[in-house]
Amino acid sequence: MYWDRKTETISRDKLEELQLRRLKETVAKAADSPYYNALGLKDYRITTLSDIEKLPFTTKQDLREAYPYGMVCVPKQKLVRLHSSSGTTGTPTVVFHTIGDIDTWTDLVARCLYMIGVRKGDIFQNMIGYGLFTGGLGLHYGAELLGCLTIPTGPGNTKRQLRFMRDFEVSVVHVIPSYALHLADTAESLGVVPKRDLPRFRIAILGAEPHSEKTRKKVENFFGIRAFNSYGLAEMNGPGVAFECQEKQGMHIWEDAYLVEVINPHTLAHVKPGEIGELVLTTLTREGMPIIRYRTRDLTALMSGECACGRTHHRIKRISGRSDDMLIIKGVNIFPMQVEQVLMGKEGVGRNYQIILESRGHNDHMIVRVELDSNMFVGDLNKLEELKNRIIRDLRDEILITPEVELCEVGSLPISGGKAVRVVDAREI
Ligand code: ADP
Ligand code: ZN
Repeated sequence: MYWDRKTETISRDKLEELQLRRLKETVAKAADSPYYNALGLKDYRITTLSDIEKLPFTTKQDLREAYPYGMVCVPKQKLVRLHSSSGTTGTPTVVFHTIGDIDTWTDLVARCLYMIGVRKGDIFQNMIGYGLFTGGLGLHYGAELLGCLTIPTGPGNTKRQLRFMRDFEVSVVHVIPSYALHLADTAESLGVVPKRDLPRFRIAILGAEPHSEKTRKKVENFFGIRAFNSYGLAEMNGPGVAFECQEKQGMHIWEDAYLVEVINPHTLAHVKPGEIGELVLTTLTREGMPIIRYRTRDLTALMSGECACGRTHHRIKRISGRSDDMLIIKGVNIFPMQVEQVLMGKEGVGRNYQIILESRGHNDHMIVRVELDSNMFVGDLNKLEELKNRIIRDLRDEILITPEVELCEVGSLPISGGKAVRVVDAREI
């Protein structure tokens, strides 16, 4: 049941002892990098875990300023890999790994995969981007370590994805949630019946972008599988930071490798357990490029209580969005995930949507384009009008403004193999 029983079920006392030891080592190591050296990190004394609060935060902007090598704290000859974030929110940042870093990361990913029931002998198709993006290679190495036959398709070429899944009897896939929905659309249009054509398929790992519980259900129901949420970011290696166990009640965040804080992004103080805030992470095992108190900008909450799976590492809630995803429309704060939640729970609604923002006169205007199931466009057209009105009403209740809603046919909205572009902001500034 456990990949690494000792570490996964370690007592909280022992875990904190381990964290304190690793935090001291990390701070000492990081102080050797030009960036942290200039911040005087050497002068900070760590005697307890709560001393973390005395240390400076590191932001994405700091990483950009330290570009290219400013945060590296080992001789360059020791580095074996460079990765970069996707650049969803600006210039990408780079992270370097030693061979030891790659091994630790690979082991963390194997731990996650084992936890959800992936085993040697599984056939694993990795539909997430390879290259600079960490999602592809990160999962790839972990799956191979476990002994899975690993197929590095990357995203795109959806028909071939489905053919490979059928021909090689794929049992596990790793896929971005929006692409998983597109895979379902394509399978449906090709007449693929999962039970008949993909009988071995049983697990999907959904990672790299925010998605709602409703989206997970859509993927699970269509394919007749179990889907697990996987969270990570390039600055903290990539996938393998936090992952759902089979209980699916939040994601275990691996505290032997990351020191976890959740802060109020305005006051920067810790929030209470259970309260939503910004996740802040410190690497505890990284050699090449340790990062102290990294402000992920991802919004979540620490969950209290023990997990029935027996793992002692804390869990975090599903990421509800990034603090910088927030849209301000007519003065109201809105997260795209709120729109997704309303849409994906509705009968008749398909698997893709997009939010367009426009200026009309001096006012902001929001248009929600949403694909419908193909059977919605035949028969009684009144039901389309009813559905549209229901969507408008429920969106208004959730986001407090009244959007325009356009109903579209399957396949008419853009899809991307990578992270979905959910919001097109065409407002005049
Ligand atoms: P970028 O910030 O350029 O997108 P990455 O490619 O490293 O960089 O992506 C990491 C980010 O992706 C995370 O900070 C988070 O915002 C998002 N992310 C990754 N996994 C998940 C997940 N399971 N749920 C929600 N968001 C996720
Ligand atoms: Zn658990």
